[in-house]
Amino acid sequence: MTAAGGPPAGDLPPLVDHHCHGVLRYEPDAAEFAGLLTEADRPAAAGTTFFDTQTGFAVRRWCPPLLGLPAHCPPERYLARRRELGPEAVRRRLLSATGIGVYLVDTGLPGDLTGPAETAGAGGGTGREVVRLETLAERLAAGLAANGPVVAEEFTAALDRAVRAAARTAAAFKSVAAYRHGLALDPRPPGPDAVRTAARDWLAAGAPRLTDPVLLRHLIWLAVATGRPLQLHTGFGDPDLRLDRADPALLTDLLRATADTGTDVVLLHCYPYHRQAAYLAAVFPHVYADVGLTLTHTGARAAAVLAEFLELAPFGKLLFSTDAYGLPELYVVGSALFRTALAELLDGWTASGAWSAADARRVGAMIAAGNARRVYGLEDGGTADGPEDGGR
Ligand SMILES: [Zn+2]
Repeated sequence: MTAAGGPPAGDLPPLVDHHCHGVLRYEPDAAEFAGLLTEADRPAAAGTTFFDTQTGFAVRRWCPPLLGLPAHCPPERYLARRRELGPEAVRRRLLSATGIGVYLVDTGLPGDLTGPAETAGAGGGTGREVVRLETLAERLAAGLAANGPVVAEEFTAALDRAVRAAARTAAAFKSVAAYRHGLALDPRPPGPDAVRTAARDWLAAGAPRLTDPVLLRHLIWLAVATGRPLQLHTGFGDPDLRLDRADPALLTDLLRATADTGTDVVLLHCYPYHRQAAYLAAVFPHVYADVGLTLTHTGARAAAVLAEFLELAPFGKLLFSTDAYGLPELYVVGSALFRTALAELLDGWTASGAWSAADARRVGAMIAAGNARRVYGLEDGGTADGPEDGGR
C-alpha cells in the first residue's frame, strides 16, 4: 500500500512518470486551482464549476484522505485544509503517496514551478529533464537578441549546438508542433537554405512564438539526430491547439521517414485518437504511446479508455505518465487512476482466463515502469542514469 488513503500499489514496481511538469511553488487561490483541473483556458461557464468533471471528482476521491479529510469532501473544505498546511507540506504529502520513483519533467512551461529534482525530491524519487524544443529555440533567440541584432547563421549554429548539448543530460526531447502548426508537417528534413531563410524571417519579426513549420521540422530533425527519444504532443490539450490537427495519424509520413533513424518517438496524450496512436505503435517499431493525461481526464471511465489503448498497442509500447502540471493533486490522480484502471482490466482478463496471472503481472510492470526504463535508457531500480537535473 502507498500512504493512508492512497490506492493499492499491487504488484507494480515504482512508477516511471515519463511525462510530467513542475507544480506551483505557491498556494493557488480557488480560481487558479480549479483552472488547473481543466484544459480550458477561460473560467468555467456561469453556473458551472471545473470541480464537476471526472478530474474534479477524482481529486475529491483520492486527495482529501492524504490531507486528513474524508474522501469526496466539498472542494471548499479541501482548499481550506490545503491553505492550512501550506504548499510545501501539501506537495510532500501528496507526491509521496503516488508510488512514482522517477519523474521525467518537461521544463518548457512558464510559471513559478518546481524543477525536476525539486518535484521528484518532494515525492522521494529522482528527476530528469525533458527539453521542450520550441522553448529551447525561443529562449536561445531571446538570449542572443539581448546582445543586439542576430544573424540567421549565428542563430542556426547556436541552435544546433544547444540541441546537442541538451541531449547530453536530457532524458528526452519534446515537440509541441501540434500546438504551433498542427501535425500535418512535411515529413522531410528542411534543407539548410530553407532553414536559414525561415530563421532570418522569424528573427526579423522579433522571434515571436515559434510557429514557422520549417523551423518546427528543423527542430524535430535536430532532435532525431541526437538519438534521444522524441516526445510529440498529440490529441487533446488546451484550446491553443486545433484538435483536428493533432490527430497522430497525421504523423504517418514523418514516422515512416524516421523509422530507420534509431530514434524512438513517443506519442503523448493521444485522446481521443488513442486508437490511432495504438495502431501507429503497433506498426512502427520505433513508436510508443502514452496513457497519461487521458486517464486523468476520463476519471471513472479510465479503465474503459485504457482498455481501448490495449486493444491494438503491443504491451511493450504503452507508457504510464500523469502529465501532472501545477497541482500535486494531478500526480495523485494520474497515478491512482492508472493503478485502479490497470488492476480492473488485468483482474478481469485473468479471471476470465484470457490472460495468465503471471502475464498480467508482467505486462502491468512493463506499462508502469519497464517500457519507459528501456525507451529512455534508465537504470533498473530506483534511480535514473545520467546527471540529475538541478531544477532549471
Ligand atoms: Zn504535458
